[in-house]
Amino acid sequence: MRLVLLGPPGAGKGTQAKVLSDELGVPHVSTGDLFRANMGDETPLGLEAKRYVDAGELVPDRVTNEMVRDRLGDADAQAGFLLDGFPRTTGQAEVLASILADLDQQLDAVLAFVVDEEVVVARMLARGRADDNEDVIRHRLEVYRTETAPLLDYYADIVTTVAAEGEVEEISARALAALDPKRV
Ligand code: AMP
Repeated sequence: MRLVLLGPPGAGKGTQAKVLSDELGVPHVSTGDLFRANMGDETPLGLEAKRYVDAGELVPDRVTNEMVRDRLGDADAQAGFLLDGFPRTTGQAEVLASILADLDQQLDAVLAFVVDEEVVVARMLARGRADDNEDVIRHRLEVYRTETAPLLDYYADIVTTVAAEGEVEEISARALAALDPKRV
């Protein structure tokens, strides 16, 4: 299965992505995790990404799109993947379409996690990641509203919404139920 997870920062995409990737047997590809790993290792890509990640800005497409193209070309992603945090703009969605066309693949589903903004702010403040101070959180939400939310329309044909409030297990059950018709 080739799946994209959408939803605002703090919607629990990362947590759900781990559950779903185990359940579906496909690798979890998180651009945020890839950036953080590169930042931790102080690679050139990580050093370039850091100032954007710290400010809650999108890392430039030139860096992000190539990183995703490389990752989706890896052997373990050929039978399916779960993308978390990419695409974040309609431009990136078009790049994803072209990466998949080159691989002779297509997306099976897009799950969009829906959650109240104040709930996600509270969750992120509790999580305490380096880019989780309140100003940066509010900025990431603003970037989500303006840049990423239009993807709900872009993917209107294949998107399914999932209510992302409540216990982790309940949300996973809803997500898997939403995917069920698409799992053959
Ligand atoms: P996340 O872990 O998905 O919340 O991402 C953390 C940060 O990584 C974001 O605030 C951005 O700075 C950067 N990032 C992650 N995915 C992307 C993307 N698709 N495009 C640009 N920047 C991204």
